[in-house]
Amino acid sequence: MISALDVLNRRQLCAPSAAKDLKLRMFDLTDKVAVVTGGSRGIGRAIAISLASQGASVVITYVNGEGPAKETISLIEKTGGKAEAIQFDVADASAAQKAVADVAKRLGRLDILVANAGISIDGLLLRLKDDDFERTLAVNLKGAVACAKGAIKPMMRAKRGRIIFVSSVVGEMGNAGQTAYAASKAAILGVSMSLAREYSSRNITVNAITPGYIETDMTGELQNEQREAMLTGIPLGRPGTAAEVGASVSFLASDEAAYITGQTLRVNGGMYM
Ligand code: NAD
Repeated sequence: MISALDVLNRRQLCAPSAAKDLKLRMFDLTDKVAVVTGGSRGIGRAIAISLASQGASVVITYVNGEGPAKETISLIEKTGGKAEAIQFDVADASAAQKAVADVAKRLGRLDILVANAGISIDGLLLRLKDDDFERTLAVNLKGAVACAKGAIKPMMRAKRGRIIFVSSVVGEMGNAGQTAYAASKAAILGVSMSLAREYSSRNITVNAITPGYIETDMTGELQNEQREAMLTGIPLGRPGTAAEVGASVSFLASDEAAYITGQTLRVNGGMYM
């Protein structure tokens, strides 16, 4: 049987420059339901758009700012995709768990969870406030775990599921001034591997993505010299795009990635190998 990916590869071989114009789906996510936390903007928005363009119905979540969430939905709907938004703070663990579980109840299934919502409160250790450390862990680590808890029961019942955690290159290599952020992102890799071991017998795969330097609002706050310093450490010599992270998530969410679990997919331009 020839898959959509085979067809795309063959067409790309014939006419590489035409690949971008193809309306063909690279991964078929038709009828799948996906939740993308923090899908209102940045990387989460690109992930939501990528999953929807492969046919998934996407529920994005956001904490505040309904405007950007609506914008994501309209971007998806304009291209014929299905999307809706729900609001909650992932740091409220019981609300987060319930909100994700409710999506599965309401829509009758939950195939894909992308735990993307995250914050970064930076500061050298001696100036790092306890509250900021706690808040970073509450959002990036505990919030992601709570969402996974909400997703696992319906996935177990369906005997299939995909959980993808958005970690960071900083969780793998550290970064001065980002102790709290690095701690949360390193910890989520441990969570991802543990859940992969716990739920593989239920046909639920659990993986993490570690983006490098991706141009979004989060990195837009960098000074020019910080940006230049960052680029010198990237073999591909440029920042990544949110769409490139989105495509990697769509791959991990697809049937083509069925034999990949407990892994970390580095989308970092070679910044860390
Ligand atoms: P962003 O600030 O543009 O978007 C963050 C999203 O998370 C928003 O939709 C926001 O509403 C949501 N969010 C934040 N706090 C929340 C909370 N308490 N409850 C619910 N939702 C909340 O950031 P981004 O750059 O798009 O980053 C997305 C993810 O990718 C984060 O986990 C981040 O750590 C990770 N990441 C980003 C980069 C980068 O270079 N931009 C690199 C590596 C990893």
